[in-house]
Amino acid sequence: MSSFLPESLQKVIDEFSRLPGIGPKSAQRLAMHLLHSPEMRVEGLARAIADSKKGLKFCQECFNIAESDICKICEDHQRNKRQICVVEEILDVIALERTKQLRGVYHVLHGVLSPIDGIGPDQLKMSELISRVEELIKTRINPGEVEIIIATNPSLEGETTAMYITKLLKVLGVKVTRIGRGLPAGGDLDYADEMTLTRALQGRLEYI
Ligand SMILES: [Zn+2]
Repeated sequence: MSSFLPESLQKVIDEFSRLPGIGPKSAQRLAMHLLHSPEMRVEGLARAIADSKKGLKFCQECFNIAESDICKICEDHQRNKRQICVVEEILDVIALERTKQLRGVYHVLHGVLSPIDGIGPDQLKMSELISRVEELIKTRINPGEVEIIIATNPSLEGETTAMYITKLLKVLGVKVTRIGRGLPAGGDLDYADEMTLTRALQGRLEYI
C-alpha cells in the first residue's frame, strides 16, 4: 500500500489488483499507464467496461454469452446442430472458435465436477445438456448421427467430468468423442495455441 498516493488512484490500483492474473505491481503499472493516457481513451475504456454487462445474458440453448435469448453461434443456420462441443467456460468457446475447425455448436457447462469444492452436476449445466441431446434425438435425428465432442480441460476434474457425461450420453446411443491428447496436462484449454487446439480437435477419439 503506497499511502502517499491520492485516494482515487489507489482505488484504481486496488480494483485492478482484484482482476485475475494481475498482481499489485501490474496493477500499479496499469494505473500509471492510464494516468499518462489521453482522457478520451480512458473514458472510452471506462464506458466499455461499464457497458460490458448491460444487455448480456446466457444463451438459452448453449449457455454461451448472448445479446438475445439465443447466441450468434446457435442462431447460425450454417452450423451443424448435430455436433455439440461441450466446454467448461465461455473462454473455451472463444479459444475453439479461433481455430475455425468446428462447424458444430457448443454447450457451456460453466464449470467442472469438483467434489472438493462442492461442485456437483446440479451446479453445472449438466441436465440441460442431457435434455438438449434427448430433444435432438426426439425431433428428427438418428442418435448415431449425433456427435458430442467433450472438450473439458485435460485436468483431473476435466477428465472426471468427461467420464461422467459420457456415461449419461452413451445410453442415448449418440457418438461421444474426447478431444485428443497433445494439450498440456492440467492446463487450461484457453491457454493453448490454435495449432495445438486444432490438432486436439482433429485427433479426437471416440469413447467406447
Ligand atoms: Zn447458443
